[in-house]
Amino acid sequence: MKNLGYYNGKISLLEDLQIPATDRAFYFGDGVYDAVMCRNNIPYLLDLHIDRLYKNCSTLDINPPVDKKELKATICELVKKVDANEKFVYFHISRGSQIRDHAYENLKGNLFISITEREITDIKRKMKCILAKDIRYELCNIKTLNLLPSVLTAQMAKNSNSEEAIMYRSQDFVTEGSHSNVSILKNGTLITAPKDKYILPGVTRAHIIEIANKNGVPVEERRYSVNELFSADEIIISSSSKMARGVSEIDNIPVGGKDKKLLSLFNDTIYNNYLKATSLPLEGKVSAR
Ligand code: PLP
Repeated sequence: MKNLGYYNGKISLLEDLQIPATDRAFYFGDGVYDAVMCRNNIPYLLDLHIDRLYKNCSTLDINPPVDKKELKATICELVKKVDANEKFVYFHISRGSQIRDHAYENLKGNLFISITEREITDIKRKMKCILAKDIRYELCNIKTLNLLPSVLTAQMAKNSNSEEAIMYRSQDFVTEGSHSNVSILKNGTLITAPKDKYILPGVTRAHIIEIANKNGVPVEERRYSVNELFSADEIIISSSSKMARGVSEIDNIPVGGKDKKLLSLFNDTIYNNYLKATSLPLEGKVSAR
């Protein structure tokens, strides 16, 4: 199969999949999602993403239709049906289905999964970004389907020939990217916005902090300003599909480029850990015993 769509047990090509219009995801974006990269049919860090999904369901009073173990087993079976080496696995649980009404009934959630080919490329190529006002609401720590502000902001980046928009709430407070976290390096310290209602606690962000801790790089989880962003030694954009990439310019102004060594530590370690965790035993070779 070249791509796959799954909805409450039904499987088809994504473009052929039918979903009832009573699904609250359709009217209200009433649901939560998560996504992982997959290589050699091994979904990367799947447990961490499933944990976040179920935590978000619980926060929003959404009843998942299956438990974590069943979701994991379903994803691990489905990835085998798509013919590609590297894939992007997206999964969401909507609140359930009912005739349109803002307030909800006691519903069983709907599970949707899509699997598409996606290769990780350009790990080392720095990204062109724009700076944009963060126009989202205050539930940014929950990965909900309500993504309109992020969609509009990502489109602004695309219209400017850039790959990501770095968002700020005020001159003193850079939050994150439209679909990534943003951290900076300054004088050998990793600085990243704190985990609060204004950023998504990214799995890759946590991985970056872990790498810093292991390598004796001081970490400051605190608000930083637009000025600090522009004067950073390096800027790191992180997400499950982008891994950890440097930034070359913001609004056509050159940035970073002053601590290539430390940037490479994060850049290389994140990517190598992914390659290692998703390698076939001995990369598919038969071991000589
Ligand atoms: N922040 C936002 C708003 C995102 O949408 C994403 C990923 O989609 C991230 C951060 C990065 O999260 P993760 O590293 O878990 O993929």
